Amino acid sequence: MWDYSFAVPSMFIISIILVFYFSLPRLSLRVNRTFLDILVVEGVVIFLDVVSSWADEHYAETSNSVLYILNGLYFVFFFARAYVFFAFTATVFRLDPGKRPMTTSLLRLPCVVAAVIAMSCPWTGLIYSIQEDGYHSGALYDLVYYIFFLYLAFSFFIIFAYRKNLDRRRHRYSIFLANAVLLLGLIVRRMYPTLLLMDTFCIMAVIIMYLAFQNPEFYLELRGSVFNSTAFRDYIDENNGKLHDKAVGMVVHNYHEMRDIYGGRQIDKGISLISDYLLQNFEGCKIFYYRKGRFIILGDGTMSFHDVISTLSKRFNEPWTADDLELYLDVSFVSVEITDKVESADALLNSMIIAMDKADKLDSREPVIISDNEMENNKKENILKRLLVKVVDEDKVEVFLQPIVRADNGQIVGAEALSRIRDDDGKLIPPVAFIHIAEKNGRINKLGEQVFEKACRFIKENDLEKIGVHWINVNLSPMQFMKADLAERYDSILQKYGISPEKIRLEITEESMIDDGFLRKQIHSMQKKGFKFVLDDYGTGYSNITRLKKCPFINVKLDMSLVWDYFNEPDEILPSMVQAFKHMNFTVTAEGIEDERMAKAMRETGCDYFQGYYYSKPLPLDEFLKKYNT
Ligand code: C2E
Ligand code: MG
Ligand code: MG
Repeated sequence: MWDYSFAVPSMFIISIILVFYFSLPRLSLRVNRTFLDILVVEGVVIFLDVVSSWADEHYAETSNSVLYILNGLYFVFFFARAYVFFAFTATVFRLDPGKRPMTTSLLRLPCVVAAVIAMSCPWTGLIYSIQEDGYHSGALYDLVYYIFFLYLAFSFFIIFAYRKNLDRRRHRYSIFLANAVLLLGLIVRRMYPTLLLMDTFCIMAVIIMYLAFQNPEFYLELRGSVFNSTAFRDYIDENNGKLHDKAVGMVVHNYHEMRDIYGGRQIDKGISLISDYLLQNFEGCKIFYYRKGRFIILGDGTMSFHDVISTLSKRFNEPWTADDLELYLDVSFVSVEITDKVESADALLNSMIIAMDKADKLDSREPVIISDNEMENNKKENILKRLLVKVVDEDKVEVFLQPIVRADNGQIVGAEALSRIRDDDGKLIPPVAFIHIAEKNGRINKLGEQVFEKACRFIKENDLEKIGVHWINVNLSPMQFMKADLAERYDSILQKYGISPEKIRLEITEESMIDDGFLRKQIHSMQKKGFKFVLDDYGTGYSNITRLKKCPFINVKLDMSLVWDYFNEPDEILPSMVQAFKHMNFTVTAEGIEDERMAKAMRETGCDYFQGYYYSKPLPLDEFLKKYNT
C-alpha cells in the first residue's frame, strides 16, 4: 500500500547530516539547540513513518497494541515536527521564547492538544483506528494537515512581521524557502498520501537550514578547533544578563613582527598548536580566537585568573615545537569578570580588544584588568551613542542661548547657540558628553545643521534687534567645516527662513585650520554667501598670532582656561595679545567670566565682549526671551 522509495533514502540522509553535525564542536546557543531538536525529531518521525507503515501493512502478524503504539508515536512526533520547524524559524529571527512565556505556552498548545488526541486514538479513533482489516483513518485525520499548516502560517507571519530582525538578505530568503518547501511537502502529502514523500521535503528544508544557518563551521576558526568572534558575540548576547563568567584574553606579543621573522606558515602552525593546547588544558572553558594572535578563554565563575595565567605563563616559557618548527612566543593577558554590567557582546569584545592591545605593549605577564567601572562607562557611552542617534534622527536636538555682552556696560549684543540633548527621563546632557561621539559617528553634520536651522528659525520668529541681540554665534565642528557643500547648504537654510547672513556668526576652532589651502578656499566661498567667522577657544591650540592674520575673522574668543589663568596670575602676555588682535582688526571676547572681579580684570586688558555665568548661563530659548524681552 505504501511506497517507501523516498522515505528510506531520507533516513540515510538525515543520518549523514547528524554525523557531520556532531563531528564538530558546537556552542550551546538556542539556535543550535533548536536545530538539534529538528534533527532528532525528524530522524524519529521518518523512522516511525517507515516502521508504522510497514507494521500497518503487516497488521495480520502484528498485535493491535504494537500498531497503536507505533501509529500513536508517529502522530505525536509528526505534530512535534511541525512545532520544532516553527520554533527554529522563530529562533532565527532572534525571538526568545523565555522572554514571553505566556505566548510560548499558547503557541505550544495546538501541538500538545493534537498529541493528546493522537494518544487517545485507541479509545476514540479520532485520527486513526486499528480494526480487524487493519489501519483506518479517523474522522479527525485532517488535523494532521491543519496543525502543520497552522505552524507554517505562524512561521510565515514571523518571516514577514520580524523581517527587520534579520539583516542578511540571504538569511531571509533561506528561511522563507525552507518554510515554502515544507508547505509544498504538506500539499504533496495531501495529494499522494501513499508515497511517504513529505519526509523528503522535510529533509530538503533541513538541508536549507543547515547550509544557511547551522553549518557549525560558521562559528569556527583555525581549521575547526576553536570558536571565532561571531560565536563569542552570539554567545554573550544570547546569555547577557544571566552571565557570571570570567574571561582571560591572551595576546601573542608583536604578532606582525613574529610573522615577518618566522613566516606566515610557521606562525599559523604555532597558533594551531596553541589552540590545541588551550583546548586540552582548559576543558571546561570555551576557547575563542580573535585574529592576530588574540585568544579568549571563557570560563565560569569558579575559574581562577591566577591559575589560568600562571599555567599559560609557564607554558610560554617553553618553545612551541612540531616537526621542523621551534617557535619562541611571548604573551600578555587581560582579565575580565563578565557580569550584568556588560552592555552588549560588541561592547565587551571592544573593551577586550583595546585591553589586549594595551597588554601587548606592556612587557609584563600581569594581566590588564578590565574593571567593572570601565564596563559601566562603556555601557553608559553606548546608551549615549544610541540616544544621540535617535535624538538627531528625530530632529530633537535642543538649542540653548548664552548671551554675549559688551565689556564696558554689560549690555547684551549677541548670543551663542549651544546644543543640548535630553535623555529618556528628560535629563539634559551637555555637549561635552556627546559632541565627540557625534564627530565619530558622522552625526555631527546633521546635528550642526539642526542647531543652525533652529537658530535661524528663532531669529525669524522674534524681533531680536528690539532686545539688543544683533547676531547669534553658531558652532561649526572641524568635520562640518571640511564639507565641500557647506556654503550651499547653510545658504539654502538662510534662504528658507529669509534671513540675512549678517545675523549669524560661525565659530570655528583652530582644529579647522590645519590645511591652510582648504581653510582659505572654504572661508572664501562662505564669505561670498555673506557668512562671518569667529575663532573659538583661542589658547587651547597651537596657532601663532601671525598665522591668524591671514584669516578673515571678525572676532576672537579667548578660551576660559586662558582667562582664568590670567585672572589667577596676571601677566603682560594676555593684554598684549588682546592688543595684537585689535591691531589685526579682530574684536575680542573673553569666555568664562564668572564674577565682577574677573570682568574688571578682563575689561582692563581691552576685551570688547564677555560671555560667562556672571551674566547668564545658557538658557532655553523661551527663558532667554523672557529674561531679555523686558
Ligand atoms: P564653546 O563653544 O567654547 O562654548 C562655551 C562653553 O562654555 C559652553 O559650554 C558654556 O556653557 C560654557 N560657559 C560659558 N560661560 C561659562 C562660565 O562662566 N563658566 C563656565 N564654567 N563655563 C561657561 P557647553 O554649552 O557645555 O558647550 C561646550 C562646548 O561644546 C562648546 O564650547 C562647543 O565647543 C561645543 N558645542 C556646543 N554646542 C555645539 C554645536 O551645536 N555644535 C558644535 N560643533 N559644537 C558645539
Ligand atoms: Mg563656541
Ligand atoms: Mg569657546
